Amino acid sequence: MVKPTIVIYKYLLNSSPAVAVSQTTIDNIKSVINNDVATLANGYFTGLTIEEYNGRPDDDPRFVMVDSEFGMIQTNGYISVACRQSITGGSGSSFVARSGNTLMYGGMLFETSPTLSTIRHESGHTFINFEHPFDFVAVALNELSVMNYASTGKRTDTFSQKDIEASKFSYSRPLGNISPDYDPEGSSFKISEKIIIKKYIDP
Ligand SMILES: [Zn+2]
Repeated sequence: MVKPTIVIYKYLLNSSPAVAVSQTTIDNIKSVINNDVATLANGYFTGLTIEEYNGRPDDDPRFVMVDSEFGMIQTNGYISVACRQSITGGSGSSFVARSGNTLMYGGMLFETSPTLSTIRHESGHTFINFEHPFDFVAVALNELSVMNYASTGKRTDTFSQKDIEASKFSYSRPLGNISPDYDPEGSSFKISEKIIIKKYIDP
């Protein structure tokens, strides 16, 4: 697939009458995508196309909700970013479908005014396939990461040096690869084409 197109909704999901997302929040989302995410994965996500949708997600037939807390565009090549008054069980969520290392479709949903740190965390799930370090390694052994929770004491507000390095490894491809996910036969990097869905709700 081609690099994803990002659709940012300028009005709150489910607001009636429609309530605008603050310009600060819109700017913060764009800043994370254009500046932070762009430094990851050896620059693979540099220069993504961002569409600003001048309405609520409710007004866009491409937008769907899953399990009431995950919003997305279920079309290959699209990632949605929407805000809502509240999210049950957290302040941000991510829904992503992948085939191998190929990001197919998905979305991020935030409360009304997400912090830059929260936007970066959900972007780590969405774009890089990052999980939570503390789910796999004892907290004492964890590196500093924007993917940790603050409660671990290992959370950074920006993508840490280790995050940046890990993103390069996860997106490194063998010679002969046709970006992003067609590896030459016999390559040790050859990975399953099975579609995997990942969902997160974060504090
Ligand atoms: Zn998370």
